[in-house]
Amino acid sequence: MLTTEELERYKRHTILPLIGREGQEKLKKASVLVVGTGGLGSPILMYLAASGIGKIGIVDFDVVDSSNLQRQIIHKTGNIDMPKVDSAREMLLYINPFVKINTYNEALTSDNALSIIENYDIVCDGTDNFQTRYLVNDACVIAGKTNVFGSIRQFEGQVSIFGTTDGPCYRCLFPEPPEPGTVPSCAEAGVMGVLPGVIGTIQATEVIKLICNIGEALIGRLLQYDALSMKFDNIRFAKDEDCPCCGNKPSITELMDYDAFCGTTFNASSSINENISARELKALINSAKPPLIIDVRETEELREGFIDGSLHIAMNDIPQQVNKIPKNKPVVIYCHSGIRSRHVIQYLKQHDYNNLTNLTGGIEAWDMER
Ligand SMILES: [Zn+2]
Repeated sequence: MLTTEELERYKRHTILPLIGREGQEKLKKASVLVVGTGGLGSPILMYLAASGIGKIGIVDFDVVDSSNLQRQIIHKTGNIDMPKVDSAREMLLYINPFVKINTYNEALTSDNALSIIENYDIVCDGTDNFQTRYLVNDACVIAGKTNVFGSIRQFEGQVSIFGTTDGPCYRCLFPEPPEPGTVPSCAEAGVMGVLPGVIGTIQATEVIKLICNIGEALIGRLLQYDALSMKFDNIRFAKDEDCPCCGNKPSITELMDYDAFCGTTFNASSSINENISARELKALINSAKPPLIIDVRETEELREGFIDGSLHIAMNDIPQQVNKIPKNKPVVIYCHSGIRSRHVIQYLKQHDYNNLTNLTGGIEAWDMER
């Protein structure tokens, strides 16, 4: 039952005919797990706490970093180096001391996902990598929990709801993970700071609608948002009856190794010794057998400068333009700082390339050598 103090606090909700006192009681009884306290997790958690969700779980293994603060508004400058779950809990209790907060200062894994998720009614996926998205999806389907999903990149975002009884799951929409190295992370590609505010707030909206059982949920619809054109699009998609996770005869009945599934297991021994420094590359370019140099940055990054004579193929275009990359002569691949290029090399090695070298530190290191 709502206390007098709570009734006062949630007045603007309880006067809404579709929420009312009954809806507010449902919010108080509800429990929501938010995976990730980053850009998406910040607004999701803050709005869910302010709205009076009774129990909120927070999973994150990371600590607050200064580069988070441009978009992760739940964290503040004074909390740099603090575990994110503790920093988030502090903010949520400032916002609403009536909410119970459970923190899990660990990565969500195949070992702990089901035992954590089972304590909550709804899961919100605010993570930034494919391994965790497939893990959250499969765990929610197996545990019978609804998964309110969001993702962001550069100026675009997506929201949908997976794992409901009759609705599709993430695998119905994306049966296969992308080739490793072909989709840059936010750390590599960047993200407009306010973007997760828009997407995470939509996720929180859907959670509240689901709990109060009002409106039309984003089930079987992918909401796509483009901040540059300021457009929202709805893409309808159906449950796949043959889906290995949520279909009629599912083959996924327990959690798997998601790093292996997404091809992201890093083989340190095969990548470390295939680097070249900017100084060594300069010498090589002036030798009798100069290598082919490939720039895998986005087109707009070329404005920052490029290595003379290099061939430009943006990372996302590598799979379509792989025939432009020879296998019979030395090839050096570079990006801004040497991370994306390493992913491209990992990807190409699976296509029988063994003539590739990564420019350590990317164009940044090259410019420093000048
Ligand atoms: Zn499915």
